[in-house]
Amino acid sequence: MTDRVFNFSPGPAVLPLSVLQQVRQDMIALPGVGCSILEISHRGAAFLDILARAKADLVELLRIPDNYRILFLQGGSRLQFSMVPINLLRGASQPADYIVTGSWGSKAVLEAKHEGEVRAVWDGAGSNYDRVPSSHESFVNQEAPYLHFTSNETIQGVQFRREPAAGQVPLVCDASSDFLSRPIPVERYGLIYACAQKNAGPSGVTIVVIREDLLDRSSHQLPGYLSYRKHVQEDSLYNTPPTFGVYVVGLVARWLLDETGGLGRMDEINQQKAKQLYDVLDNSEGFYHGHAQLACRSRMNVTFRLPSDELEQMFLQQAHERKLHNLKGHRSVGGIRASIYNAMPFEGVTALRDFMQEFRDTH
Ligand SMILES: *Cc1c(COP(=O)(O)O)cnc(C)c1O
Repeated sequence: MTDRVFNFSPGPAVLPLSVLQQVRQDMIALPGVGCSILEISHRGAAFLDILARAKADLVELLRIPDNYRILFLQGGSRLQFSMVPINLLRGASQPADYIVTGSWGSKAVLEAKHEGEVRAVWDGAGSNYDRVPSSHESFVNQEAPYLHFTSNETIQGVQFRREPAAGQVPLVCDASSDFLSRPIPVERYGLIYACAQKNAGPSGVTIVVIREDLLDRSSHQLPGYLSYRKHVQEDSLYNTPPTFGVYVVGLVARWLLDETGGLGRMDEINQQKAKQLYDVLDNSEGFYHGHAQLACRSRMNVTFRLPSDELEQMFLQQAHERKLHNLKGHRSVGGIRASIYNAMPFEGVTALRDFMQEFRDTH
């Protein structure tokens, strides 16, 4: 695989090589089926088996309790910015609470405002979204229909270490960019959603994990596609689901179980990978300036700046020549962003680390 580069793209992002090889192998004919995943009915036995196994593997990986349901939807996390309030906020007597720690959280608030009253109970805009609230900061209205937060802000590179305290209020999480990167106590959540293309699979499929009792809140008047209740009733087969995406998410879940040793092990590896890069920032005597405050540094998206735009340009160009690709920061923040999701191999991170040290030494 000599022509593969180290791909630090924020998303769609790197996938495990063994998953890609499996996809290639299955692409002409799935074993025992005789044609590919792209060509079979979503209601046939072969796909139903793929769907059931993907769900079972997610249950095993995340230790999802019995009273939760897993959905595979379309429309990305952007549609979840609307579906969450359409199902859980419409008709509520109190505003929904949102913790805003970056670009995605603030977009989620904007969409929710179309559906009802929203309160941003914490907003990090004042410090340019360089941190998340510390766990003792608790602000939730105990009557709120839910508390929404973004576990990892992909653009700013800030991440919660643990869930914000929510009391009895259902906790809703946009976990798009750190889903399956570490174990989480699912029983503390009301709803978790994640588009797959950051850490769990290809674009086109979004995973929703929802606690059963919340389904009662979906109005019977909703358009079918927008209703969580409907999707659960139909087991993600209300319409044609993103079959290819479900299949790849299933392969990624299998890779985590069989080759990585589960989410506890994945978390350790992710911490070690992130440390490689953050250590370079911290030992660079200010040459590299990390965006996030230390306690909130993302283990998925490492964001930093160099002393000048010219040096950043040069950094990106020289990195590219060494097969370290897609390191440019998001246009709204600038600088450099190294996205080091589960599938980024250790060698990719050490290659970037070595390059960063060398680049600093020569400039
Ligand atoms: C990428 C991303 C989104 C948007 O996902 P789409 O699938 O493009 O709608 C939302 N939230 C977070 C945290 C993301 O990283």
